Amino acid sequence: MSDCLFCRIVAGEIPAQVVKRSPTALAFRDINPQAPTHVLVIPTRHLSAVRDARGEDGERLLGGLLAFAAELATELGLDGRGYRLVTNTGAEAGQSVDHLHLHLLGGRKMTWPPG
Ligand code: AMP
Repeated sequence: MSDCLFCRIVAGEIPAQVVKRSPTALAFRDINPQAPTHVLVIPTRHLSAVRDARGEDGERLLGGLLAFAAELATELGLDGRGYRLVTNTGAEAGQSVDHLHLHLLGGRKMTWPPG
């Protein structure tokens, strides 16, 4: 989608600190990090949020995205201490960019429940 910020990052129209890519997923550093490691993992195809991933197609996309994020966490050395994967969906959850993304957060002790 031409007016979507993350689609524009996928297209290379807006710069980002890319840390990993595949034909179907892209990971780049969050511009406003909330932890020592804060990476966004997105599908290269536009979906507004996790609620739009449905059926077999959605299963394949979400499974691939999660596996990609887990692989990246290993590569970033987060397995030992642990990390958090979060996806915000909709206004009350605080979603500010309407392109499905996982936040990969690590490098500090997390609290629960999230605010
Ligand atoms: P959310 O609030 O869950 O929708 O997450 C959106 C995230 O995108 C926020 O953590 C922002 O800091 C991040 N963000 C916004 N613009 C950019 C950008 N140009 N490059 C990297 N991260 C961004």
